[in-house]
Amino acid sequence: MEDRHYEIAVIGAGPAGLTAALYAARALKRTLLLEAKVPGGELLNTETIEDYPGFQTITGAELAQRMTDHALSFGAELVSARVVAIAALPDGRHRIDLEEGEPYTADAVIVTAGGEPRKLGVPGEAELAGRGVSYCAICDGAFFRGEHLAVIGGGDAALEEGRFLTRYASKVTIIHRRDQFRAQPILVEHARADEKIEFRFDSVVEEIVGVDGRVTALRLRDTKSGEASTLAVGGVFIFVGFLPNTGLLTSHVEHDSQGYYRTDDVMQTTLPGVYAAGDVRSQLTRQVTTAVGDATTAAVAATKYVESLAPAVGATP
Ligand code: NAP
Repeated sequence: MEDRHYEIAVIGAGPAGLTAALYAARALKRTLLLEAKVPGGELLNTETIEDYPGFQTITGAELAQRMTDHALSFGAELVSARVVAIAALPDGRHRIDLEEGEPYTADAVIVTAGGEPRKLGVPGEAELAGRGVSYCAICDGAFFRGEHLAVIGGGDAALEEGRFLTRYASKVTIIHRRDQFRAQPILVEHARADEKIEFRFDSVVEEIVGVDGRVTALRLRDTKSGEASTLAVGGVFIFVGFLPNTGLLTSHVEHDSQGYYRTDDVMQTTLPGVYAAGDVRSQLTRQVTTAVGDATTAAVAATKYVESLAPAVGATP
């Protein structure tokens, strides 16, 4: 019979999950890595990474492949499945329910489930998604050759992805609701130096307009003057933040005001034996480097947790 019990289960195979799986398997713990899509997480939505030490520049796809190969080389088992719930069991272990198929159990669980792009929530956005409304420049940018594109947001993603889109677009207008960027200064500097990029500050999108099912324009409002305007565009890329996938734990776990898991300094959530790292965790910044660092701590702490538990009933001594 298939043994569906693991010592450590890692939920989500982005950079945090791949690192946690690498460390857990390398500590000789029976390690399960569950991923609903393909391994890589947000790396796969990023063209070039310039701030991962040791690689002056590397594509997100290549780094994802290298991290996956590395984790699996130590024996972590990658299984394609969507986790729907994680429940604490009375003996300190955990049950992991899947959308399809029998549940798994694990001594310790490391949640590295990432998140989803936040939506703007304006008329036209849902109706025109995939028809000129996009949340991923690397996935969809090439469909907009020669077009004037809008990018919404003022964080790292908006500035970085806006610049990426200039390789296809004739012009990129970055629309930000304030006149100060949240993005890192170096990304702002690069965007300002790009001749194809222009900025609209203090502006919010009120509606995304489509004709024949394709985006043709944005209706904007200047937040200072209150003036309305229309900007003709062939597409709009929305980068207004991230919503963490933190709905998996069925027992109560502490979150911050944005919904991210609060952890202690070994990445344990308020549920014993459940750890969190990467984009689901409350933290100052969300970088690949912080994800892999925190995942390392989580895996080491989870290993100790596994070793602290009484042997499972029926386990071979
Ligand atoms: P973010 O840092 O949360 O920025 C979101 C931006 O969208 C902010 O400028 C925010 O405006 C704006 N915004 C939010 N809701 C909005 C709304 N309803 N209408 C209009 N604008 C809205 O999100 P992010 O850029 O996706 O980045 C997420 C995390 O990933 C960050 O920690 C970031 O550092 C990290 N990241 C890093 C890199 C990198 O290092 N290269 C690349 C991508 C992402 P306000 O500024 O006014 O709040």
